[in-house]
Amino acid sequence: MAPRKLAAGNWKMNGTLASLAEIDQLLSDHLAPGCDVLICPPATLVHALAARTQGKIAVGGQDCHAKTSGAHTGDIAAAQLQDAGASHAILGHSERRTDHAETDEQVRGKAVAAHEAGLVAVICVGETEAQRDAGQTLDVISAQLAGSVPDCATAANTVIAYEPVWAIGTGRTPTNDQIAEVHALMRDRLSARFDDGADIALLYGGSVKPGNAAEIFAIPHVNGALVGGASLKAQDFGPIIAAL
Ligand code: PEP
Repeated sequence: MAPRKLAAGNWKMNGTLASLAEIDQLLSDHLAPGCDVLICPPATLVHALAARTQGKIAVGGQDCHAKTSGAHTGDIAAAQLQDAGASHAILGHSERRTDHAETDEQVRGKAVAAHEAGLVAVICVGETEAQRDAGQTLDVISAQLAGSVPDCATAANTVIAYEPVWAIGTGRTPTNDQIAEVHALMRDRLSARFDDGADIALLYGGSVKPGNAAEIFAIPHVNGALVGGASLKAQDFGPIIAAL
């Protein structure tokens, strides 16, 4: 079974209730059969978005804690996201790895918590520009996959997003060959480790926009995209969904 196509939007720390009007437009004009759509708004909007979209798109959080509850001010448990209507959680985004010093081990713990709460973990990996320039990209991705993806990962509960740090929000993208090389490596590593590793969806993320989406989606083992800036407006995200 080939992985299902997924267009995932990461709103980051953007959006208020008023922004959900963009989703109304997305629902009316831009959903494509055969392609799942996931929007991960700020946690404040998860419940409202899920209630508004009634399962027509998937809704996700942008992080979760590894513990189920307790004295962790400001954090959110996976079960709380699930309770609010989320089905997914982005984990190990490079902004969290950088801003909050998240390690592979912590990301793995969060992914286990997400799975235990019934959420699909969208686990992000990606090299910095310095690592790419030093020729370390494949080693970095291999190590992040080994360290961040838990043994309980399956094609049903896990999606991997390759997001080169230097391509996020910069307007720069790797060459098609560079994306193909990393996605082939990820497919090999996951297939070697998991019984259904060949079916785990692999997303590319980093400055995806309407103008480059079709070309990126044609690359082998690219099953969709994790989109930041261009997911905020239906007029941008809609054509990306259509390109899948
Ligand atoms: C992201 O933050 O996951 C991302 C890919 O951002 P952008 O599309 O804006 O580069």
